[in-house]
Amino acid sequence: MDTLKVHKNVYEEMISWMKSNIPFEACGILVGKGNIVDEFIKMENVAKSETFFEMDLKELMKVLDYIDKENKDFIGVFHSHPVSNPYPSKTDLERNEIIDNLIFVISSLRKGTPEVKAYKISEKIVKEIEILII
Ligand SMILES: [Zn+2]
Repeated sequence: MDTLKVHKNVYEEMISWMKSNIPFEACGILVGKGNIVDEFIKMENVAKSETFFEMDLKELMKVLDYIDKENKDFIGVFHSHPVSNPYPSKTDLERNEIIDNLIFVISSLRKGTPEVKAYKISEKIVKEIEILII
């Protein structure tokens, strides 16, 4: 995957979820088909942390069931960096290394205006991919 296509409403939901979780990191699941994200599922950052996020495992299982039932794809994981740059942190890489070919979308508000970046992570190698708002 070289381009992640994100529906405009999903993009706006990510930004507003990031803002409503401040000062903590926000997180969520990106759902759709192939490389097209048409649904954003808000997840609670149970860690209530400003520097990392953690999803509730039970809640995550429910989401995976839902995705399966809807015959959609689990495309990636969204989280925010309220004050740091939108790049995977060391902690992000360590905590998510069990997922191969993980698509990570990170938003940041460090400059006041939202920045959103997408990455493909495989064996701790981070590759930025293009985001296209559709
Ligand atoms: Zn992070």
